Amino acid sequence: MSQPVLYENCTILTMDRQRRILSDAALLAEGGRIGAIGKRQAMRDSAPAQAERIDLGGGLVVPGLINTHVHLSQALLRGCADDLSLVDWLTKRVWVLQGNFDPDDARLSAELAILEMLKSGTTAFVESMLASRYGFDGIAEVVAASGMRAALSKIVMDLPSYAMAAGSMHPGMIETAEASLEEALALHQRWDGAADGRIKVWFGPRPPGGCSSELYRKMTAAARERGMGITVHLAEVREDVEHIRREHGMSAVEYADSVGMLGPNVLLIHMVWVGADEIARLAETETHVTHNPLSNSKLASGIAPIPEMLAAGVNVGLGTDGGPSSNDYDMVRAMRWASYLHKARRLDPTIMPCEQVLEMATRNGAAAMGLADEIGSLEVGKRADFAVFDTNQPHWTPAPNPVSTLVCSGTGKDVAWVVIDGRPVVRDGRVLTMDEGRILAEARERAERLYARTGIQAGPRWPVA
Ligand SMILES: [Zn+2]
Repeated sequence: MSQPVLYENCTILTMDRQRRILSDAALLAEGGRIGAIGKRQAMRDSAPAQAERIDLGGGLVVPGLINTHVHLSQALLRGCADDLSLVDWLTKRVWVLQGNFDPDDARLSAELAILEMLKSGTTAFVESMLASRYGFDGIAEVVAASGMRAALSKIVMDLPSYAMAAGSMHPGMIETAEASLEEALALHQRWDGAADGRIKVWFGPRPPGGCSSELYRKMTAAARERGMGITVHLAEVREDVEHIRREHGMSAVEYADSVGMLGPNVLLIHMVWVGADEIARLAETETHVTHNPLSNSKLASGIAPIPEMLAAGVNVGLGTDGGPSSNDYDMVRAMRWASYLHKARRLDPTIMPCEQVLEMATRNGAAAMGLADEIGSLEVGKRADFAVFDTNQPHWTPAPNPVSTLVCSGTGKDVAWVVIDGRPVVRDGRVLTMDEGRILAEARERAERLYARTGIQAGPRWPVA
């Protein structure tokens, strides 16, 4: 096992039960876990003699941020579709580009997304929809090598459409029922628990319209049998709930319930168009929700009733979504947007305070990933997963309440260090496990070729001289 490391000279937002904030503090990482945490001097006195000491320069230590909704394959599509409704955005741009991916495009896109996430303080994420054509193995290898923690969800589908846009899926994205389910099961066998337990494999079925009730039922039965997680887009736009009502005569949550797709192993994505009865059922079944405020805003999907869900006891995590919908993978920005969006909607500044959105991005995300005992707070015995923000900057000064400064003034670009499983993966803002220069150069090249292959124009709308 690696040498113990004493990270010292910092303020720690523990996010423990009492939400203690430790000033002039230190944290001992030992064997991938937190061996001790407390005041600096006491920690120095009690640390093992052989412990390496790392001075964090007065930075703010936060549990690693947990992004509960990511599309790795969309990093390469950043900026491909502005000012479009979700259905056009998907069928005319995103699916066409993704349907032309080869596994090297998908692998590079995953590298780009993970690079960005690590640099902005994210230590764990849920990938919601990996298609067969992306090459799951290559992407899992990227996750393993990067040091990141992830639940990787494989697409399950048997219908080539989305909501009311029947038959509109790009042929490159279509998978059949048997193949998609069988592949997900085989991948679970191969990869679940890999990379010292950092990788989980989940089901990532397509939303209603892309998956039949029969296939959902087969999948949910298999998930129960194997203890697998499921994440699925639901009630994202009004067309989604109209489609479910028309096809099945039910609300979105009633329909999910009818196919066995509610429960503590299920993470529902977006949930914009849901009513009070549905929220009560989510709470009762301990179903998790991921809120993705930037994506919902940009795509004009609507504003999810998140304060209502939290008040009802639903566990809600926070996500960014992908490159063309939120356009970045920065969880600090997502926290701020979540806080401000609901204040504005409810005309109530007390809604969604900074403490609550930080809980969503840490503890709630951990619970949504089924990892509440392992990550999400900095406590003895938990995994040593944390980010350190450089507070010695103008926009962090002064900082009477560091939680407020992080959420309301900070950005992901302020991250100096990231440690996962006790291992530094970002140091002084540089990712140690990935070749940033190579990834950025290759991303530009591959994106250019992809646009040329598909004929999609996403360039400036103004004349370029
Ligand atoms: Zn999504």
